[in-house]
Amino acid sequence: MVSHGTVPRLALVVVDFQRDFCDGGALAVRGADELLQPLNLLVRAFERARQPVFFTRDWHPPNHCSFRNYGGAWPPHCVVGTPGAQFHPLLEVPKDAFVISKATSADKDAYSGFQGTDLGRRLRRLGVRRVYVCGLATDYCVKNTVLDALALGFEVRLVADCIRGVNLKRTDSANAVRSMLSAGAKPVVAVRAAKSVGGDSAGGN
Ligand SMILES: [Zn+2]
Repeated sequence: MVSHGTVPRLALVVVDFQRDFCDGGALAVRGADELLQPLNLLVRAFERARQPVFFTRDWHPPNHCSFRNYGGAWPPHCVVGTPGAQFHPLLEVPKDAFVISKATSADKDAYSGFQGTDLGRRLRRLGVRRVYVCGLATDYCVKNTVLDALALGFEVRLVADCIRGVNLKRTDSANAVRSMLSAGAKPVVAVRAAKSVGGDSAGGN
């Protein structure tokens, strides 16, 4: 019934899965490394289905305004050219994936992968209607990326078992999930998302 022209094109957006946010990093998010397996499962599924895969990354100069010594709230992290800025070494980053660098100038921070980047334009150019969002951290960059995607008119699936939060306050992640869902994101688990992108029901959940 649905013609090819109207099947929503899907994209995977993996948020900030960088060494500094993973176990042992400068701003490690608890449990981040547990996401490796489901993240790689998703990446492979999207690759197999020839749907685009995006990786966002914090890409800060050494004097970035989000760092404590420069008036910010965070320890230095994801500084361009340092190992901490690299993607997790076990994360599968296909050669044809899109890498979106954000917060690249000293005076601006960006929690959203859309903020100050061409992510929205690239998704539109590819005809993407629905984005699957996963990665780090639930209460900051995942949340803001999801909210911006919705505001830009994309359908959003939040891969709920594929995110981890900082939780400066214990309830931060739960509150972030609540605000993403009430803004219109729909939750999905990684296995189901991988199945739906690869299966014959791309319009399904
Ligand atoms: Zn940052």
